[in-house]
Amino acid sequence: MTGVPSDYRCIMLAVDLTEESTPVARRAQAIATASGAELHIVHVIEPLSLAYGGDVPMDLSTIQDQIHEQAKAHLAEFAAGLNIDESRQHLIFGRPESEIQRVSEANGADLIVVGSHGRHGLALLLGSTANGVLHGAPCDVLAVRVGANPTPPE
Ligand code: AMP
Repeated sequence: MTGVPSDYRCIMLAVDLTEESTPVARRAQAIATASGAELHIVHVIEPLSLAYGGDVPMDLSTIQDQIHEQAKAHLAEFAAGLNIDESRQHLIFGRPESEIQRVSEANGADLIVVGSHGRHGLALLLGSTANGVLHGAPCDVLAVRVGANPTPPE
């Protein structure tokens, strides 16, 4: 027993594309390599109308298109660093929690890897993406500690 599960076949790495994505990605890549699993990556763009309650008195479509183009380029660059082919890069509009679950199920993922801040107090009550993904997840979920007290490197 090496401590690394060897039976994962398809791993879905969820990234918010902040600098904290790197340690989360490293962990997902290490597990994928050890288990011979296919590694997919997903980034979810929250529609501005969702973020602002659908109550903005202006046309947001041009800004939304720019956000999409930037995110696409950023995701492609990040995925290239992990040798993740374009066919395994998923850029989706919607709510991160539910879209991460949906794309994982659609691609037959048996492990979802997300970052977790190990929040305290009010932030804990408000919840996190990691919590949201865990509840009702179609498979195992690994929450990699990031932020103030991150998981030590391999
Ligand atoms: P948060 O709880 O929002 O701080 O996010 C923690 C983790 O959830 C991140 O490290 C990612 O793994 C995942 N995550 C958050 N937002 C997104 C997003 N927009 N797309 C994909 N994954 C995300």
